[in-house]
Amino acid sequence: MKRTLRRSTLILILTIAFIGGIGFFTAELLFNAGDWVDQPYNAHISGSGGLEKAGSILDRDGNPLAQSVDGERVYSDDETVRRALLHTVGDNSLNISTAVQSKYRSLLTGYSLIWGLNMPQSMRTSRDIVLTVDAETCKSAYSMLQTGFEEPKRGACVIYNYKTGDVICSVSTPGYDPADPPQINEENEAYYDGVYLDNVLSSTFTPGSIFKIVTAAAAIENIPDIYQRTWYCDGRETIGKNDIHCYQDTAHGEINLQEAMEHSCNIVFAKLAVELGSEKMNAMAEKMGVNMSFEIDDVFTAKGHYLAPANDENVLGWTGVGQGSGEYEDKVNPMQMAIICSAVANQGTAVNPTYIKGGNGDVLKEIGIKQNKTYDFLDPNTAKQVGDIMPVYEIGGLTVHAKTGTAEVGDEKGPNAWFVGYVADSDLPLAFACVVEDAGLGSEYARPVAEAALETAARLRGTL
Ligand SMILES: [Zn+2]
Repeated sequence: MKRTLRRSTLILILTIAFIGGIGFFTAELLFNAGDWVDQPYNAHISGSGGLEKAGSILDRDGNPLAQSVDGERVYSDDETVRRALLHTVGDNSLNISTAVQSKYRSLLTGYSLIWGLNMPQSMRTSRDIVLTVDAETCKSAYSMLQTGFEEPKRGACVIYNYKTGDVICSVSTPGYDPADPPQINEENEAYYDGVYLDNVLSSTFTPGSIFKIVTAAAAIENIPDIYQRTWYCDGRETIGKNDIHCYQDTAHGEINLQEAMEHSCNIVFAKLAVELGSEKMNAMAEKMGVNMSFEIDDVFTAKGHYLAPANDENVLGWTGVGQGSGEYEDKVNPMQMAIICSAVANQGTAVNPTYIKGGNGDVLKEIGIKQNKTYDFLDPNTAKQVGDIMPVYEIGGLTVHAKTGTAEVGDEKGPNAWFVGYVADSDLPLAFACVVEDAGLGSEYARPVAEAALETAARLRGTL
């Protein structure tokens, strides 16, 4: 009798577990099957990652960036466009997890719960996705990074509309041709190191002088007589326990805030950081989103990092010029810098960027894009003043407020070159951030990349 009872109990438990298990898998299938299809390890579903019948990915003008023709996934017929947009569009391998083709594969393939991937062609609901990017502008930035210098450069360049959030240009190097992916082996692995990472979204870099935008904002808000002040720069000065020096010890003489920004004087900005103190510096960095990760469509950007020390004036000074060290090391992400510049351009309020313009059917709704999300990073008055002290450039007939950066990174590598800022023209409201690794002066390496892309954007201004 006892034994029978025990057996019945066991059977009952197993039955409950079985029903529960079925329930679990049913729920998984109902709620998460689309996600499962999007996983890169399911690329083996077929040779083209299940993409041979998928919808197209188009740029903002309707130029096809990826489409399925006769059972094959084909990319743009322009090789430079293919390479320039590799990290945004993706390839058959789906190794670039942040690319549209990896993230939204179930939508592109028309994955159906009932039919799975075997759905008859006539019943498919595969979606086309129209991106916000402009292929020509991306091509210009990519060409400069790839062929504009003595050797192909690693880096990133992003430009977006600070009123609508549309990402116009997004380029990350190194890359490759998705129509002819490389076999990565011992000989070329150094070149392809990090190739699946989109540097625009997923990497951080030492900012150097572009961080002076944040220090300047803190100074403008907290030092009442900031515009009456002048400082003397001898090229090198002991602040705290060690020296702070300007680039190549260049002496800038007696200068005011605007001149300090223009000449990118480290001594002045280090002194400002020390005068403001760690609390106010940390507060402004926090307020401007330096330690934040941004959700761009379905991707979270790499977090920047700013932390000012309370008891070390020298390191505090260096953090104010974007060159902290150890646990006080400054780091920023390119997309984040474009967002911060968009706040300066846009009365202190940044619009969250997006890569998705639309598509057939209800693509925007199906993707669940959180459009029109904004961040209040600065008071309108502070934003205007920061913008006013940024150096002004004329690029392709556009009025551009921008800051260069030349960030020392050590390891016997050349500095990170930066050029970040915004177009002040109301009919082409673009914010941008471009970085070139192992390079030199921001003005010699990053500025030409941004200029090439902005000149193209200026030429196409009616359509962007
Ligand atoms: Zn100086």
